[in-house]
Amino acid sequence: MLTVFGSTALDTIRTPSKTLKDVLGGAATFAGIASSFFIKTGLIAVVGNDFPKKYHNILSKKLDLQGLVIKNGKTFRYDGKYDHTLSNRTTLKTELNVLSNFSPVVPEEYKKSKFVYLANNDPDQNSALIKEFDRVKFSMCDTIEFWISTKRDSVIKMIKSVNAVVINDEEAKLLTKEFNLIKCAKKIMDWGAEYVIIKKGEHGSLLFYEDVIFPSPAFSLEAILDPTGAGDSFAGAMIGFLASKNSTSISNIKKSIVYGNVVGSFAVEKYGVDGLLILTSAKIAKRVRQYKKMVQF
Ligand code: AMP
Repeated sequence: MLTVFGSTALDTIRTPSKTLKDVLGGAATFAGIASSFFIKTGLIAVVGNDFPKKYHNILSKKLDLQGLVIKNGKTFRYDGKYDHTLSNRTTLKTELNVLSNFSPVVPEEYKKSKFVYLANNDPDQNSALIKEFDRVKFSMCDTIEFWISTKRDSVIKMIKSVNAVVINDEEAKLLTKEFNLIKCAKKIMDWGAEYVIIKKGEHGSLLFYEDVIFPSPAFSLEAILDPTGAGDSFAGAMIGFLASKNSTSISNIKKSIVYGNVVGSFAVEKYGVDGLLILTSAKIAKRVRQYKKMVQF
């Protein structure tokens, strides 16, 4: 099985066409639902006692929830606003609430996981959690501006403890203090990551491994409603695919990135998690075939 640890949130998302208030979100939510199309996924996360039952039900249909803790208090909240291009997002508020000082416990069954994804979350919590797994074959983490600005040293320490880092281009630049993406990746590899995947939103991603650079385009779409969670869905599908193959060969890592691009493209076609909730394995397979045609020459 695969374990995903990270934020489960109530998001307020302001897009030019619609504002969503306190909807189901969080990096681990998107990543876990995305990975569940490929492999049984266990979620480790914390929510408050204000977390709606209907969202709990959604999670329980997709994920193993032995690792979900409900604490007295308010659920983590994120508030972000997109500009008219939908390419730029401004964070209006990050309220950690029950996520601050959370001490996650790994359920016994999850300890067997060979694949672990540390979704966007407090880097100190992520570094502590990964030590609890003793059979990990492949671990991957993400981070976001909030943690780079408030806990940069901890983010670098977290990177030392994983095999792969998946990160947005702007955040890679902010973290490494470099402007060229190859330089960014080299620095992150010097800190200890074997693989670095830099996401470039609608422009796809770049994978770096040893002296390999593998660029991949995003699945081209004309209509995007809400890009929230695209990166998390990309990462969840990627590691879910690898876990389902029980492989970390470079050829499977390249394929996993194609699955990441495809599942990410479904996430942005609807608001919040809706794009993932109506997704099926057959739709993923069909779009992977279209993707292959798109990049063939
Ligand atoms: P993405 O659009 O892939 O960057 O992911 C957005 C998701 O990440 C939202 O659903 C948020 O709830 C969650 N998120 C935003 N900021 C943070 C943070 N500082 N720590 C953890 N999760 C966050």
